[in-house]
Amino acid sequence: MTELASAPGEHAPETTDTSITPIHHWVGGRIVEGTSGRTSPVFNPSMGRQSGAVDLASVEEVGQAVTVAKETFASWRNVSLAKRAELMFNIRELVHTHKQDIAKLLVAEHGKVLSDAMGEVTRGLEVIEFACGIPTLLKGEFSEQASTGVDVYSIRQPVGVVAGITPFNFPAMVPMWMWAPAIACGNTFVLKPSEKDPSASVFTAELLREAGLPDGVFNVVHGDKVAVDALLEHPDIAALSFVGSTPIARYIYETGTKHGKRVQALGGAKNHMIVLPDADIEMAADAAVSAAYGSAGERCMAVSVVVAVGDAGDALVAAIKERLPKITVGDGMDPASEMGPLVTQAHRDKVASYLDSGAQQGASVLADGRETAPAGDGFFLGVSLLDNVTTDMDAYRDEIFGPVLGVMRVDSYDEALKLINDNPYGNGTAIFTRDGGVARQFQFDVEAGMVGINVPIPVPVAYYSFGGWNASLFGDSHIYGPEGIHFYTRGKVVTSRWPDPATSKVDLGFPQTR
Ligand code: NAD
Repeated sequence: MTELASAPGEHAPETTDTSITPIHHWVGGRIVEGTSGRTSPVFNPSMGRQSGAVDLASVEEVGQAVTVAKETFASWRNVSLAKRAELMFNIRELVHTHKQDIAKLLVAEHGKVLSDAMGEVTRGLEVIEFACGIPTLLKGEFSEQASTGVDVYSIRQPVGVVAGITPFNFPAMVPMWMWAPAIACGNTFVLKPSEKDPSASVFTAELLREAGLPDGVFNVVHGDKVAVDALLEHPDIAALSFVGSTPIARYIYETGTKHGKRVQALGGAKNHMIVLPDADIEMAADAAVSAAYGSAGERCMAVSVVVAVGDAGDALVAAIKERLPKITVGDGMDPASEMGPLVTQAHRDKVASYLDSGAQQGASVLADGRETAPAGDGFFLGVSLLDNVTTDMDAYRDEIFGPVLGVMRVDSYDEALKLINDNPYGNGTAIFTRDGGVARQFQFDVEAGMVGINVPIPVPVAYYSFGGWNASLFGDSHIYGPEGIHFYTRGKVVTSRWPDPATSKVDLGFPQTR
């Protein structure tokens, strides 16, 4: 993850190596080459070598994309709901047809394994499918005869140009969370994807064009802090959706709202999974291993800490440990691989450093992924396990965002609950138990936005909304689902009457309904 203080411009110089693919912007329905002279390297994490160079937009280039989006807004919001729904169905069909093509781009630049990448595209597709129902989703309310001869009704209208700024870990799905509902609502969109894995966004833009989306409705500008700041300050951006790490999310929310924008900024996480002594330990171990190491732990909903209550601890740790040697780590295109590399060398090294700090601060290192990582130049780290983690350790305090699972041991449910509620984040959490009463109490007590009961990664389906609490979300709207539709539209209430002109008179009193 990038720290807020990271300076722009620290990027590799332009290369003439023909094995390095240039990755350009997409504005007004076509590829637009960058003119800033700045690029950023894109890597194939399994091979550990640079595969691409993505343009980094200047303030002027961002401005040009916003102008195109603004000019297109007037005609796009005028398109009928029937036509917009038809276009969303076309988009759905094309994304579905090209699911594997998109997934392969994710494997090449992010590193996740193909089956996981296919899962990512499928979850994004579900949000597109939700947006196909836009005529129903935008239905207003109507009150006939609110006063004598007076009707009142509500409508929702698009906000204008919407910007989306997205993280590296879901390069297809998270943009889909944003652009699908935003454009279905009648907005135009400027996407600033992660500079680490930008190709899926450009490929998607081409699909949207092929589906018949008018040019200028969906635009992609690549970039770093320069581009993000330009979007945050641009007067013609009405709303901004962000997903990324907490320091940047806080900055986006504060800066965007200061510039008069509607902002939803989803941040990082530290997701706890409680295992009560009555839980099925084998099932809990399967769930913990799947949720901790899937996508090499680079998921904001990954289980990062297992909290074993009472005597669940020893049996659970043994069951988790037993599963680790069976996990195949390797190139994401190899069908045998279950876990791929980390996104960059720097991130891999930072994740690995928690094994050292964990050991120094008193945790037991039960599996050290440096010893089991595949050989070669890839940014691999094997599955890693820390036991006896405590709240004062870096491995607990930080969002590691890698394949390092921590186990904490506590004596009671109350102690486990307190751990979660005292943690600054509040994204996802889960409880494993056979006791329905305790599970229901947990759902009532816990301070987190997404709760799993015997479900380790409770990402809501597309017709609910996704979002955390506390430092996992800035702003009051969760993303996609009903709250997404609400975020990308503004309400208007119309009070209407058609009186007989003969009854008209001057009345300076405040309008009464009775
Ligand atoms: P990041 O915060 O480093 O980057 C996110 C976006 O912000 C990128 O587009 C990046 O270019 C931009 N950015 C980075 N530094 C910036 C700066 N100084 N100023 C302005 N913009 C900047 O996050 P990441 O490393 O790409 O993604 C991983 C993080 O995202 C994790 O913390 C993870 O938990 C979080 N995440 C959260 C959710 C969620 O739904 N809450 C989902 C996915 C990922």
